[in-house]
Amino acid sequence: MKKKASIGIIGGSGLYEIDGAKTIEELDIKTPWGKTSDSIVIAEIEGHRAAFLPRHGRGHIHLPHEVNYRANIAAMKMIGVEEIIAFSAVGSLKEGIHPLDFVLPDQVIDRTRARESSFFGSGVAAHVSFGHPFCSRLHSIIKPAADAIGLTMHTAETLICMEGPAFSTKAESNLYRSWGAGVINMSTLPEAKLAREAEICYAVICMSTDYDCWHETEEHVTIDMVVKNLTTNASNAKKLLKLLLERLGAGRDCACREAAKYAHITAEHKRGKAQVKKLKAILPDYF
Ligand SMILES: [Zn+2]
Repeated sequence: MKKKASIGIIGGSGLYEIDGAKTIEELDIKTPWGKTSDSIVIAEIEGHRAAFLPRHGRGHIHLPHEVNYRANIAAMKMIGVEEIIAFSAVGSLKEGIHPLDFVLPDQVIDRTRARESSFFGSGVAAHVSFGHPFCSRLHSIIKPAADAIGLTMHTAETLICMEGPAFSTKAESNLYRSWGAGVINMSTLPEAKLAREAEICYAVICMSTDYDCWHETEEHVTIDMVVKNLTTNASNAKKLLKLLLERLGAGRDCACREAAKYAHITAEHKRGKAQVKKLKAILPDYF
């Protein structure tokens, strides 16, 4: 498939399109793992090209556990994307992370269940390294960009990714706080794992909408309040994105670009043929 863009943007709740972007084309990519959440829009923002995909679909159709993460990441890879900036609405687990603050987590704890979390299996075994789940090179670009536009962005925080779709119980929320986690969402996994397997640099920019239910004095989280904050966050995300697009795409020297090179371990003559055929779509150098 022809290379369409090297930068991919995955929009979360509240971020379904980017105003001011000029649409070049809309792509419905058929991947070996099925259909993406929505069409991928190849857009130009002030002269910089990117592939945009709303994770939940335009109009917010898919719940976090219903998103076809494999198709989304595979499609990005198939059109030439090397760097993904993902956006996600999160709840705050710390007093100091206020609603409307941004967070760039460097760790994640997986509390999802029953999601397809790998491109491998079915006759091709592989284990990619995930000790540092997000690309630190991308982080070194994102944080200064947030500072430049005066956005409060916390770093070195741990994200909890829970299954949902109901929010946490108070006991769960307090458990996660006791683990030292900073924020909680429902959609970074398996997205980040799949990006790593596909050798795409990936970072998630978390946008705090509320204190999770642990907060005693704060009024209870209502959908109204969350939606209002989502709108403000989306507007800040768009400002940040404009600056990021100027600074991304300058080449990669990080380990992400060969994350799968030594990860697959099945003997070549033992590999499942159908699975090899699928993997060719995203890792043609190895399969
Ligand atoms: Zn990287």
